Amino acid sequence: MKIGKYDVHIIESGYFGLDGGSMFGIVPKPLWEKTNSADEMNRIKLAARNLLLVSDSKKILVDTGMGDKWTDKNKEIYAIDQKSFSLNNSLAKLNLEPRDITDVILTHLHFDHTGGSTIINNDKFEPAFPNATYYVQKENYKWAMNPSERDKGSYIKDNFVPLKEAGVLMQIEGEKQFDDEIDFIIVNGHTFGQQLLKLSDSSNTFIYVCDLFPTTAHIPLPYVMGYDLQPLVTVEEKKKILKQALDEEWKLFFEHDPETAFATLTSGEKGIRLKEKFKTF
Ligand SMILES: [Zn+2]
Repeated sequence: MKIGKYDVHIIESGYFGLDGGSMFGIVPKPLWEKTNSADEMNRIKLAARNLLLVSDSKKILVDTGMGDKWTDKNKEIYAIDQKSFSLNNSLAKLNLEPRDITDVILTHLHFDHTGGSTIINNDKFEPAFPNATYYVQKENYKWAMNPSERDKGSYIKDNFVPLKEAGVLMQIEGEKQFDDEIDFIIVNGHTFGQQLLKLSDSSNTFIYVCDLFPTTAHIPLPYVMGYDLQPLVTVEEKKKILKQALDEEWKLFFEHDPETAFATLTSGEKGIRLKEKFKTF
């Protein structure tokens, strides 16, 4: 897929599982399990689906998945499965190595978005992409350094503090345009300072909806994750983005849906719903 000066590639970095109840908040299981079946531990399957944007001068990775620094116990808890796909294997399929990446845009610092950002080398944490500048919202970094007692388990400092220490983490503020094709849309319901990526040229707009709509099943407004810090803010943000996406024919790109990479929207009796789902570009 070509967007302006970028060749856009889907980078699958593996699967993991989270509690279905937590993923759907107040929605009862008989409803959510119709679309997302649970395993014997009540976990639903999630993808870690990243993007790579390649131009003549840049190779930009968007989010880094779960990474491979997990203990066996946590691999089990989070059902981490990187047998078919991993970040480095998916890059290798494009003949790329970590040192080729020039920029890493982090939508927010939760562990399933930043796990692949650092590696352990000689017992020390280092940036996994040694030639890259990393970007995150200042607001999100600030929160991640001092989260609440409720959400601190979602932030693993070894995934991002080493970036700051190495001087490669740029903290950006607000909805600035990154370049001609890339804009950020800031949302604050899931956590503070999550930046969604809007990728557009004159013929196409994709929006990387991250944890605002983690899967295709999260399109209906009450389907809000139990993890969200401000669920009512999420509802308003979903409403606003869905309307704009419908009006301006944006395609939604899903980071966590196990089957669908992106989808188009339509409006019907039950409000805005998905029209057509696509597995790949
Ligand atoms: Zn998140």
